Amino acid sequence: MTEESVVTTAQRLQPQLVTHFMKLIQTNRLAHAYLFNGADGTGRQQVARTVAMRLFCQNVTAEGLPCGVCAECRRIMAGDHPDVVTVIPDGQRIKVDQVRYLKAEFTKSAVEGNQKIFIVDQVDRMTTSAANSLLKFIEEPVGNTVALLLTANKNLILPTILSRTQIVDFLRVSPQALTDALAKADVAPSQRYLLTTLTESVGAAQELTTDDWLKTAQTAVGQWFAACCAGDERAFVRVQTDLVPLASNRDRQGVVLDMLVQAWHDALRQQTATVDQDALAYPQVAKASQQVAQRLSIDQLVAIMTLTLATRSQLAGNINFQAILEALTLQILAQMR
Ligand SMILES: [Zn+2]
Repeated sequence: MTEESVVTTAQRLQPQLVTHFMKLIQTNRLAHAYLFNGADGTGRQQVARTVAMRLFCQNVTAEGLPCGVCAECRRIMAGDHPDVVTVIPDGQRIKVDQVRYLKAEFTKSAVEGNQKIFIVDQVDRMTTSAANSLLKFIEEPVGNTVALLLTANKNLILPTILSRTQIVDFLRVSPQALTDALAKADVAPSQRYLLTTLTESVGAAQELTTDDWLKTAQTAVGQWFAACCAGDERAFVRVQTDLVPLASNRDRQGVVLDMLVQAWHDALRQQTATVDQDALAYPQVAKASQQVAQRLSIDQLVAIMTLTLATRSQLAGNINFQAILEALTLQILAQMR
C-alpha cells in the first residue's frame, strides 16, 4: 500500500469538514476553540493538521488547500513547527511534562501575539490541573491563537470545556469511501468487503493485511464455516488446527470472532436477496452460504448469529479462546442436524 498525505487522508475521511474549515480560514472566520469529537479512524488528527497547514502554508492551492510541499507545510508534517503546538498522549494520561510544555506555550503566545495553533488530542485524558490551565487559555483568548481539542468521546469532556468550544462531530467513515480507498491501496477485491466490516480506516486495514494474515484468516474461517454449513464434524477439529493459530493475542482473537460473525452474516443476507460476490465477506465459499441460506430458516440463522455474537463478551470475560470456539462450533453443529 502507498502512503497517503495528511491532506488527502483528511479529505477522503471528512470531505465536508475539510471544505468547511478551509472556507472558514479563507474568510477569516475561524473561531478560537474547537472540540473535534470523532472516534479513532475518523480522521480527527488529520483534519486538525490540515487546518494547521492551511493557516501557515505559503502556497495555498487553487482549491484552497495547503500545498503540502512548502517549507511551512513540511515542518508541520514533521511535527517541527514552533507555532503548531501539538500534544498527543501515548499513554493513559497526558503527562506532566506535556502539560508544562502546553502551559509554557500558552504563556509565550500571550507575549508574542503571532499566529499559533494548539492541537491537543485525547483531551479527555487531561489531569484537572492541565484542564484548568487550558480553560483559562480558552476563556481569555490572546492574539491569533486557535485551539483544536480532540477526543474520541465527548461524553468524557468536562462540561466547562464543552461550553466554551465549538463542537464538531466527526462522522464515521462510510463503507463505500473505505472500499474505494482499499481499492486504491491495491487490496484484493475478495478482501475488501470483509475489511470494511472489520475496520474503519485504511491504516487498520493495512495492519490486518500485513504478511497475508487476512488472506490466511479468510481462508481458514471460510473452511470452518463451510464445514459447519455441511454439518461436518471436522469443523470442530478445525478450531484447534486452523482457527486458534490465527490469533496470537487478544486483539487478534477479537478480530477472528468478528470474522466468524461476518460469515454467518453472509448467509443471512443471502436469504432475502441475491448478493454480489464483491459484497460478500467470504466470496470463496459463496456456494456454502447460499445453500445454508436456503436450508435453514431465518430464525435458525438468527439463532446462530446470536450465538456467534455472544462470543465477544465471552472473550471479554476472559474465557479461553479455544474453549469459546469449540463450544460455539458444537452449538452450531447441533443446529445443523
Ligand atoms: Zn504549503
